[in-house]
Formats: sequence, C-alpha cells, structure tokens
Amino acid sequence: MEEEFDTGNASTRRGRMLGPDARCRSCGFADGAALQRDAEGIICYECASAAAGHSTMEAHHPLGRANDPDITIGAPGNLHRLLDAQKAAWPEAVRKNMSRDPLLMVVAVALAVRDFARVMMGYAQGIADWLMQLHRTLCDRDGEAWWLASNLPPLWGVA
Ligand SMILES: [Zn+2]
Repeated sequence: MEEEFDTGNASTRRGRMLGPDARCRSCGFADGAALQRDAEGIICYECASAAAGHSTMEAHHPLGRANDPDITIGAPGNLHRLLDAQKAAWPEAVRKNMSRDPLLMVVAVALAVRDFARVMMGYAQGIADWLMQLHRTLCDRDGEAWWLASNLPPLWGVA
C-alpha cells in the first residue's frame, strides 16, 4: 500500500468553512490556512497578531521538531500557517520519527522543500495575475509601448 504524501488540503478545508471568497478584512490575504474569524469578521493570522501587539514573524521548524528541534527559520506568520498545514499531512512516521531514523529525516527534507515550493507556486500565480492586470492598465493608459513613456530604466541592465 502506498503511503499518502499529498493530502495537504487543510487550506482548502478551512477556506470552505470560512466561505468561498474568504479574505482578510485588513490586507486581503486569501489562503484559508491562515484565516480566522473574530467578532468583526475574517482576519489573517498576521493582521490579528499585529493588532494584538505581537510580532508577525515566527520561528518555523521546517523539518518538524521531532526531526530537528534546533533548525528554525524566521517565517511570516501566514506563511508559517500554510507550511504547517502542509506538514500536518506528512506521514505520521515522518512527523513523529520516534526512533530518529535518518532516512525519515531525509524524507522530511524532501517534503519541506516540496511544501515550500508549493506555497511559492501559489504566490507566483498571484504575482503573475497581478502583473498581467497592471500590463493591461498601462497599455490602456499609455499605449502598447507604455514603458517608453514611463522613463523607467531598462529591466535587464544598460539600454
Ligand atoms: Zn491580513
């Protein structure tokens, strides 16, 4: 029987509980893994932390505490929630690694890289979509060669 490695749908499940168009009322963050509801509506973890006077940065254990409690990286709170939601779907043997099996530690490294790439892919799609909207806006306003009217320096070095 094949171990299930790809059940990281916590974002989707939580998003469905908050509604299909759930977004942070303050910053617009839309991934359900980092959204919560309070008395005023939906807010993301980072905006709620900032409003409570707490840091929005946290120490993330990319391999999980069981595999290496000493390795941490600074992560924005929302990203931390997204990565932990993915990690919750790792095979239990990898998450708990009671025997400190080095092979399972390597599996944790592979899954941590996969999860980070998966989250970044979601951000890359959002950035590409936003830039395409900006492209259309600039073309409508300044024409098809909008950059000539902008006095921007060349994108890749000297003109
Ligand atoms: Zn927010």
